[in-house]
Amino acid sequence: MNDYPKTAERIPDYVRRILTLIESSGHQAYVAGGAVRDIVLGRVPHDYDIATSARPEDTIRIFKEAGVYYYDNAAKHGTVTAVTEEGDVEVTTFRVDGSYSDMRRPDEVIFKTTIEEDVKRRDFTVNAMYMDRGGQIHDPEGGQADCADKLIRTVGNPDRRFEEDALRVLRGIRFCSVLGFDIEPDTLKAMETHAGELKMISGERIASELTGIVTGRYAPKAIRTGWKILSVIIPEIAICRGFEQRSKYHDRDVLEHTLDVLDEIPLGEDGKRDPELAMAALFHDLGKPACFKLDANGTGHMKGHPAVSKEIAERVLNELKFPKQFITDVCLLVKLHDTYMAPDKKEVHRFMSSFPEAILEKLKYLQRADILAHSPLGRTRLARLEELNKISEELRASGAVFAVKDLAVNGKDLIEIGVKEGPEIGLVLSQIFDSYIDGKCVNTKASMLEEAQKILLTKSI
Ligand code: ATP
Ligand code: MG
Repeated sequence: MNDYPKTAERIPDYVRRILTLIESSGHQAYVAGGAVRDIVLGRVPHDYDIATSARPEDTIRIFKEAGVYYYDNAAKHGTVTAVTEEGDVEVTTFRVDGSYSDMRRPDEVIFKTTIEEDVKRRDFTVNAMYMDRGGQIHDPEGGQADCADKLIRTVGNPDRRFEEDALRVLRGIRFCSVLGFDIEPDTLKAMETHAGELKMISGERIASELTGIVTGRYAPKAIRTGWKILSVIIPEIAICRGFEQRSKYHDRDVLEHTLDVLDEIPLGEDGKRDPELAMAALFHDLGKPACFKLDANGTGHMKGHPAVSKEIAERVLNELKFPKQFITDVCLLVKLHDTYMAPDKKEVHRFMSSFPEAILEKLKYLQRADILAHSPLGRTRLARLEELNKISEELRASGAVFAVKDLAVNGKDLIEIGVKEGPEIGLVLSQIFDSYIDGKCVNTKASMLEEAQKILLTKSI
């Protein structure tokens, strides 16, 4: 273990100050959990948790005396949060969790005084390391060895640990996705055994883990490893696994295609994928088996699958209580993923005027990723996508407008030339917009009012 970087200097000063403060009052205090894991792996922790032998009331007294601002957010579970300018630090008393009668939350927590007792409640060995303010790592469960071997392994008996809290099943897959680690075989077996108990976990908690799973750098590997477990939440995953498409445009089954699409969704600066794009990639083809038809030549057709995949996404994401806007956006991406205009400026302009720009930008990534995960013949579609993207870029660069509200005329202008107030205004405006796309007028007030006169004369409304 000598090849690990010197770690003491990687604890930020504001966290070290809290450690020192608690220690100088005669208690033990360590950085614990995910931050130590990330430091060991050479990653930058996104936050720091402290584990301490001090009871919450002692921590509060220490903070009060030192003038540290804090809030006592969950006295029952032993957590006091120190609020500093550089960031919040959660300080949690060493504890063991009492029984888990609902497989979700411990009925009670019992405060303890040693790391050796506290470690038993932690989920995985890689999350069960403690670092003192000198940078020394205390690792009673062999987390460093599992980091070196890239393994997710439970602390203690895996069946017991997943029985206590089924959410850990998904946490395991998430850590596999974020870190690229394998899941130790007995741990994976127990995860599969207890996956059904996820039904007792709230939608919101599952949603947060599922998002972490699809956005992680190693999402395809994690889903390939955890497909049986994830099928408890999304049964279509198991149906798509091994489902051959029988098409010259495809050379892999629906699930493998899906995972390759996910792999092609680019990572952001934070090393994660965009959540809407990643979720859309996961769902985009899950409707294929339900739409599958084999023709007389033995070729598979999956007409209408985007709409069916969209229904599946809508059902699952609603069940899991994802935010409404997230569901709307993912469903739109899924629905549009297989829509390719003719490479015609007017058609592209109309399409671009029908959907929000942010979604269209994401759709480009989804379609590119989708095409790249086809057979060599299927990949020839990339030329079409690029042609369409070029047209849309040229349209945006030309200063074209994509919504009635951005036209050079408005309802007031139409009333001035004699259009009746009421629904007629909207109808005329949308006809002007159509004429504008067709090149019959340009986006100036004069040209559009002239076009309005023509529309009124034809009385086509
Ligand atoms: P992340 O990078 O997502 O923050 P983390 O490991 O820090 O990962 P947290 O949810 O912040 O995860 O929890 C902090 C620590 O608390 C974990 O490292 C783990 O030791 C413990 N922990 C959290 N949730 C559970 C759980 N459901 N069961 C057991 N231990 C848990
Ligand atoms: Mg954390």
